[in-house]
Amino acid sequence: MKAVLITIGDEILSGDTVDTNSNFIAGQLKMIGIPVIQILTVADDVQTIKGALNTASSLGDLIFTTGGLGPTKDDRTKTAFAQFFGDELALDETTFLHLQQLFIKRKREHLLELNRPQAMVLSRARIFQNENGTAPCMMMEQEGKLVFCLPGVPYEVKPLITDKIIPYLILQNPINHLVTRSVSVVGIPESLLSEQIEKWEMALPPAISLSYLPVGNRIKLRLNCSGPNLEALNANLDTEVKKLQPLIGKNVISWNGNEIQEILKDILVARKLTISSAESCTGGALARLITSVPGSSAYFLGGVIPYDYQKKIKILGVSPQTIAAKTAVSAEVAQEMTLGCRDLFDTDIALSTTGVAGPNTDEFDNEVGTVYYSIRTKSFEKTQKLHLPHLHRNDFAQFVSQRVLQDLVEILVNTK
Ligand code: ATP
Repeated sequence: MKAVLITIGDEILSGDTVDTNSNFIAGQLKMIGIPVIQILTVADDVQTIKGALNTASSLGDLIFTTGGLGPTKDDRTKTAFAQFFGDELALDETTFLHLQQLFIKRKREHLLELNRPQAMVLSRARIFQNENGTAPCMMMEQEGKLVFCLPGVPYEVKPLITDKIIPYLILQNPINHLVTRSVSVVGIPESLLSEQIEKWEMALPPAISLSYLPVGNRIKLRLNCSGPNLEALNANLDTEVKKLQPLIGKNVISWNGNEIQEILKDILVARKLTISSAESCTGGALARLITSVPGSSAYFLGGVIPYDYQKKIKILGVSPQTIAAKTAVSAEVAQEMTLGCRDLFDTDIALSTTGVAGPNTDEFDNEVGTVYYSIRTKSFEKTQKLHLPHLHRNDFAQFVSQRVLQDLVEILVNTK
């Protein structure tokens, strides 16, 4: 079984909205073993939508459209569906009742009549009620193909897919499950890694596929296995992952595909270590990354953003002489920032960043994209310089934050 996704919306074609619906639906279908073979993005126009439905029907067995269903939209998607399937729109009492309950719950009864068109659905459609919005999902069946017509708003699409459509598909079809394992490896170049696991890779059962995904300076090894028996899939993957231990165990920082901030959490919690941050050029992105993990309050005690160099002196005790001699963007200042930060928050570990995120240079005329970071544990200090002139400010802050945490995890793993 193969799926085709159709995203409907002028705002997506114009670049004003990023198509996150396709990404989400494709991910959910993958988990039940249904590959997406094509994603089409089309204008909010009857002829174009019909054309896309035609193309999609010739390619896949399952078709999903999102968007263009709002009451303000002249029902272009619905009109296109009605024409394509030779059906007509009819008021669905159950959907109208559902709308009524929705508006009562939201204390917006006065808007019910305005939304009556949302209860007009294709007469032959199976309806999946939308618990978070007014446009229900309509499913049409034709020549063995299923076509799901969904609203566009992502927070409406997600529960419709996970709570209603995926369970429906699982009930209807002998599903092939897709099970994945991810192993995060650091401190070894991809070419050397592939050499070290070559024999293991060659001996993998045909049902298991392996991919290498570089993420910053770590590599994620992803194993995929699909088939009808979920238990067997899990057992096969566990067996193969165990075989990696003697081959690359010392380079593995996570056996379960966790993100770097989650890996850090596991280490800090297990060793009862605390951490703090002093950020300049990353503007809080580092602290945000650390605190994006639930439960981070157990180990992250706090952070400061002394952006101005006078504040680095005042808050962190960075020496004015160091700044005068080396400028605020220097290894020495990064190191003094972690010293001050560790004292300020009284933590086992302190992190710092100082750099020029651009697009303009700083008052010391340091080159745009230059950044120094310092990682200080009780027994260890590492300072690193990076040069990232190609990155936009936000990407720069994200990249540096990821990199700092990855280095910290490596340091902690190696200083057990
Ligand atoms: P309405 O919002 O009028 O009820 P609808 O639910 O059918 O209609 P659209 O009007 O097409 O959906 O889109 C509503 C909003 O949902 C858009 O402004 C956009 O922000 C978001 N949206 C639509 N399609 C996508 C998509 N593919 N990915 C991410 N967001 C989307």
